[in-house]
Amino acid sequence: MLEINNISKQFGGVKALHDVSFALREGEFLGLIGPNGSGKTTLFNVISGMYKPNSGTITFDGHTISGLMASKICHAGIARTFQIPKPIMDISVLENVMLGSIFGKEKNSAHYHCSLKEAQDAALKLIEFVGLNVDPYSYPKELTAGDLRRLELVRALATQPKILLADEVLSGLNHEELDDAAKVLQRVRDEMKITIIWVEHIMGVLMNLVDRVVVLSYGKMIADGTPQEISTNQEVIDAYLGED
Ligand code: ADP
Ligand code: MG
Repeated sequence: MLEINNISKQFGGVKALHDVSFALREGEFLGLIGPNGSGKTTLFNVISGMYKPNSGTITFDGHTISGLMASKICHAGIARTFQIPKPIMDISVLENVMLGSIFGKEKNSAHYHCSLKEAQDAALKLIEFVGLNVDPYSYPKELTAGDLRRLELVRALATQPKILLADEVLSGLNHEELDDAAKVLQRVRDEMKITIIWVEHIMGVLMNLVDRVVVLSYGKMIADGTPQEISTNQEVIDAYLGED
């Protein structure tokens, strides 16, 4: 479904990504892990069109998307959340989500018709689905860090993506909230049938949910395997997981 072929991205002298290649199958739930600064967010930025790669290509459903504008890639069906939530502060939570429903996915222009009422109903359903238990008419500044993460996820889902790139959506959540929030991602895959790449540092939660794990270290892919294979891979343990 998504093929990442020999992607490299450099910032000045920093090789943030070095010749990274892997493929994502439709319906897959893939974990992307690695130490801070290993290139995880940069890879999301390259896939979603925020940055152009220095070399390599990305294809999505057989079409080359690397080099396209971010809005085109979103319209094609790839949505991402930001590690630092980026809601629009001076509109309500509900309106933030509605923006995703209205402008996210390319609508079959002449025939497409999404009334505000339809966008609102869709947004309210998603807010409930993700467990964002706040007044939809409240403003982002009134939300806790955990709820801002949930809003970030709802905004991405509102664009009706085929692929969700989720960047550390669990940080800021307290211990009790973690499992519930992780299960939301599982339901996004199982019930909404959305393919997911998930970047997360909370290994205990990630390893239990994903089908496969790709590991980056200093911009290079050092492993690709099942959670079981990854957690016993000596190179991954040395670079990231540690002996525990
Ligand atoms: P991760 O998400 O795995 O923590 P990042 O992808 O954010 O890592 O960063 C990878 C490397 O690229 C780091 O060395 C980081 O400082 C650098 N980097 C990321 N984005 C930029 C940027 N816009 N300008 C310069 N350097 C960047
Ligand atoms: Mg990051």
